Amino acid sequence: MHDDERVAEELEALQAILMDEIKILTDESGKAVGVETEVHPWTALDTEQQFVRVSLEIKLPSGYPDTRPIVRLFNPRGLDDSTLNRIKEDISKKCTQDLGQPVIFEIIEIVKEQLTASNMPCVACCICLYGFRSGDDFTKTHCYHYFHSHCLAGHLIASENIFKEEQDKLPPWQQTATFQAVCPVCRAGISYDVEMLRSANPPQELEEAPRTFQPTPELRQLQEKMEALYLKQRSKGGIIQQGNRTLLLSDDNNGEEDNR
Ligand SMILES: [Zn+2]
Ligand SMILES: [Zn+2]
Repeated sequence: MHDDERVAEELEALQAILMDEIKILTDESGKAVGVETEVHPWTALDTEQQFVRVSLEIKLPSGYPDTRPIVRLFNPRGLDDSTLNRIKEDISKKCTQDLGQPVIFEIIEIVKEQLTASNMPCVACCICLYGFRSGDDFTKTHCYHYFHSHCLAGHLIASENIFKEEQDKLPPWQQTATFQAVCPVCRAGISYDVEMLRSANPPQELEEAPRTFQPTPELRQLQEKMEALYLKQRSKGGIIQQGNRTLLLSDDNNGEEDNR
């Protein structure tokens, strides 16, 4: 597998410990040139409690372990850039410190430890755009995207309503499709008990946000610009209808704004 005995031993040990969780990357001649693995936090076997993950690729340049491996983190879920940078720094330090010794297992351990320490999504909920605080009820989808449970309930209810409205517009023989909820980030199919989600508390940050909305000067400017554009479009005979984004002729609409 590898002509350097230290590396061959290291790879064998890794396969024995991680089994099918680690993939050995080889070149055309079958020589091991690196490894790839998906790292999760330590939560024993409770995968439901794993809220973050990252894929790790470690390439072994010729001369390894006397030269540093090339480490790449990709497909992060629930991790922000500062956490990823911290992990990269720790790995880099370890590689410098242990130069001359096999270091793959230690690198995986560093990533695992850091993920365990930040096993709470530190990205924002893409539905309400607020972050997650400890105590917030949140849902991790099987595609590793995070939403406040309360927000996800709202999204699922709204998307089912939109689906029903669209179905109602079709003649009966075309109303065959059944509703399939999708993840608002990656569109993977998801299914949840909406009532359960709905009973969750709203996000704390949302609760604390000021109740009265004050448009900023920038927003006022944008509103004015959009209003001018709207009037221009209408004077030219066509406007884009809100909601279903179809082009209407203002004659059909009597120039009235349709607010459905
Ligand atoms: Zn939210
Ligand atoms: Zn997703």
